[in-house]
Amino acid sequence: MLTRYPIAMTALAVAVAIAAYRLLRLYRLVRAGRPAPGRYGRWFRRLSTEAQEVAGQKKLLRWTVPGLAHAFVFWGFIILLFTIIEAIGDLFSPSFAIPGIGHSAALGFLEDTFAVAVLVGVTIFSAIRLRENPHRIERRSRFFGSHNLVAWVTLGMIASVIITLLMYRAAQTNTGDFPYGWWAFASHGIGEALRPLGAGTNRTLATVFVDANVMVIATFLVFVVYSKHLHIVVAPINVAFSRQPRALGALDVTPDMDPDSITEESVFGAGSIEEFSWKQLLDFATCTECGRCQSQCPAWATDKPLSPKLVVMDLREELLSKKRTHNGDSEQEAEKNLVPRVIEPDVLWACTTCGACVEQCPVDIEHVDAIVDMRRHEVLMESRFPQEAGTMLRNIESRGDPWGLGSAKRLDWTAALDFEIPVVTEAIPEDVDYLFWVGCAGAFDERARLTTQAIARLLRRAGVSFALLGPTESCTGDPARRIGNEFLYQEQAQKNIERLDTTGVRRVIASCPHCFNTIANEYPALGGNFEVVHHSQLLARLVSEGRLTPPVLEATVTYHDPCYLGRHNRIFDAPRAVIDALPGATTIEMHRCRERGFCCGAGGARMWMEESIGRRINEERTDEALSTGAEVISTACPYCKIMIDDAIRAKGREEQVRVVDIAQLLDGPAKERS
Ligand code: SF4
Ligand code: SF4
Repeated sequence: MLTRYPIAMTALAVAVAIAAYRLLRLYRLVRAGRPAPGRYGRWFRRLSTEAQEVAGQKKLLRWTVPGLAHAFVFWGFIILLFTIIEAIGDLFSPSFAIPGIGHSAALGFLEDTFAVAVLVGVTIFSAIRLRENPHRIERRSRFFGSHNLVAWVTLGMIASVIITLLMYRAAQTNTGDFPYGWWAFASHGIGEALRPLGAGTNRTLATVFVDANVMVIATFLVFVVYSKHLHIVVAPINVAFSRQPRALGALDVTPDMDPDSITEESVFGAGSIEEFSWKQLLDFATCTECGRCQSQCPAWATDKPLSPKLVVMDLREELLSKKRTHNGDSEQEAEKNLVPRVIEPDVLWACTTCGACVEQCPVDIEHVDAIVDMRRHEVLMESRFPQEAGTMLRNIESRGDPWGLGSAKRLDWTAALDFEIPVVTEAIPEDVDYLFWVGCAGAFDERARLTTQAIARLLRRAGVSFALLGPTESCTGDPARRIGNEFLYQEQAQKNIERLDTTGVRRVIASCPHCFNTIANEYPALGGNFEVVHHSQLLARLVSEGRLTPPVLEATVTYHDPCYLGRHNRIFDAPRAVIDALPGATTIEMHRCRERGFCCGAGGARMWMEESIGRRINEERTDEALSTGAEVISTACPYCKIMIDDAIRAKGREEQVRVVDIAQLLDGPAKERS
């Protein structure tokens, strides 16, 4: 059958061919990545994630206004697929109907409703972009560094698709060709306005706009696959292969560091784009440049050069600059030195691994693993890392703790107690419920020791039997792992797992969220399987069981969520339950709390690195805590406590505001002991 509009049909055919070529090239680029273990299987869970995040727009809707705008456009385009088929069919025959669906009133209504919804969505997006104009507010805009002109062109094209659609449908209502009744309210409404132009003009308008509609769709198709709007195609695939159950907590991959399996060719981490996994390459291709990650990043918020969005965009540029042969092999030598050639060292080392970016990303990009992979390459293959962190690594290696104070001092904190705690030397006694994993900060830092002592007193008061490893406890390896020294981490981990296994320990209390995360989530990959509870969880349970009586606290308390307890491990309620149980205490939340909690600046081994660029993250967080007017800033992590307390002292506010762990509040009276 001859088409009525050969230009539109030719344009469509060319567009489909160009788009297919582009997608094939992308497929080859992504396929050239390393294997990504664990991305298959758990299909029911994957299907459920797809239903929630893609169909249900769950993550996008966490930000109500832009989320709704996106849902309008997303669902609009799903429904408008029918109109695209109808418009193409119209090129062949004005009476075309989708087989099996026809021209039901319901379809006409849905098509018009969603056409209007898409226009509303585009209007909201435009308003947001004007309000967040990066030319005006610079770094404070989440669109800073994004391809903003492309975004405006995209909005213009989406609007053009809808306007041409409504115009040709409206004109058809006056030529007798429109198959839907008044349920297609928008088409008929605009048609009323066009009616005075007469049947002849309306016929011309219908012809021009149906042609224009198909041409715009063809252009949009090409534009989509060559721009950030590629996410329309790849985001559902990226979400389908996202890490399950979550991309936070443990790092994704535990490389085989067995000296027997290491050869000359072994490469650790990512030093060139080819050394990322295919899933990471798909991540880079999927970024929508929405800037949600950037807006939550503590490094970016304090004027450092790190933006998770810009890291992903830079890596995508690098990926797209590669050429591949038809079978996916690189035509070029892999270009090494990703750091500093593509990612500057100041960017790489600024990350606290807080996970705020991963939490926010609507298309499930896993920034933390990509950053740690580049760090691994820097540390293990190039021996390049911030000088001051070298001391921390040497201390762990030689003395078993980042401060280098040595195992002999690990029990010093117990001197302040008026009771004895058993120290496990061989097998843990049968009548001991838990091993209390004190952690390096809890054992050595003066302020963290107060928390450790409070926990010990509370456990004893509640009748919980527990023991310590004392001098045979050693750093879990978390700071070494986060800085990229996987070798040292695995050495520490294996030593600790062996120690815990030989003593028969199965249940562990951890007071440091970093120790908690490492033992609970990362040791299993190395054969260490233990039941780990954070002290906030245990204390909340003991309070609810009536085994601990909370003391009166006449004060306003705010709670700072430690990233590795909250975002990484979803423990938000237990510490709050402890505070809420204190008679007289008034709680007040900070603006950024729970999933959106703002890092204290110590994670990712940043505790042992200089913070010489921008403002200090701990001071930024402390300002927010102070702005609540709280008299007590509480937390449940020794690092957070140290960082916030440092900031309080730097501001000279230590006389007015106390920084304490929730265990100290429950132990009470905290005032004398903190
Ligand atoms: S993990 Fe935290 S510090 Fe690192 S890039 Fe993401 S948001 Fe920024
Ligand atoms: S990485 Fe995710 S959150 Fe960040 S800009 Fe890209 S799509 Fe948005």
